Amino acid sequence: MTFRLDKFLCDNAGLTRSEAKRAIKRKQITVNGKILTSSATHVTLDDDIRLEDEPVNYLGTQYFMLHKPSEYVCATEDSLHPTVIDLIETPAKGLHCAGRLDIDTTGLVLLSNDGQWTHNITSPKKQCDKCYIATLDTPLSAEAIAKLEEGIFFQAEQRKTRPAKIQRLTEDKVEIIISEGMYHQVKRMFIAVGNEVISLHRNAIGNLRLDDQLLPGEYRALTDAEIALF
Ligand code: URA
Repeated sequence: MTFRLDKFLCDNAGLTRSEAKRAIKRKQITVNGKILTSSATHVTLDDDIRLEDEPVNYLGTQYFMLHKPSEYVCATEDSLHPTVIDLIETPAKGLHCAGRLDIDTTGLVLLSNDGQWTHNITSPKKQCDKCYIATLDTPLSAEAIAKLEEGIFFQAEQRKTRPAKIQRLTEDKVEIIISEGMYHQVKRMFIAVGNEVISLHRNAIGNLRLDDQLLPGEYRALTDAEIALF
């Protein structure tokens, strides 16, 4: 496998194409100890590529699970708030979230630069389950549970949510499993039955649970078996 030098620097050193070309022109790039001045030079994975003497390692395809803290947004860029990508030490180009959580929602976020894989999680056709723990304003009545399980009609989308699975955990906490990802879906579903979500935490996507070793803000690479779940 070979890569154009400027493209390799974009994908693996977080440079834009023009920054990569400029670094090459300014003789800041060495390949196997030699300064290279042509952006079109091809490099291989065996080459020792350095930017100002710091090795630039091939990042390849990344798959991570992250414990999202509150106050971070699920976006690649944001002018006001830190993003979950900011928590990743060496993000490969194109790393993105497989679905979004609200800024105040905590818990499991999956990230990858493999668009087909993230599509398998987010595509409405796949109906991938998402499991949340919601802390509620008031205890949930049996009647509200029945309505949520039956599906809630959303005026804005002019359609009903697919049936949710609800389990009461404590007086004010419930587990809710939904298989779609409409805008603020969980919060809106509880508002529709006269309740309010005080805090929301996602603990699983499909059969993948948030690793309880991960503190808010921490992440880890997925294993091959975990990647194969989607
Ligand atoms: N539903 C919400 O309302 N918010 C989230 O962050 C996720 C699901």
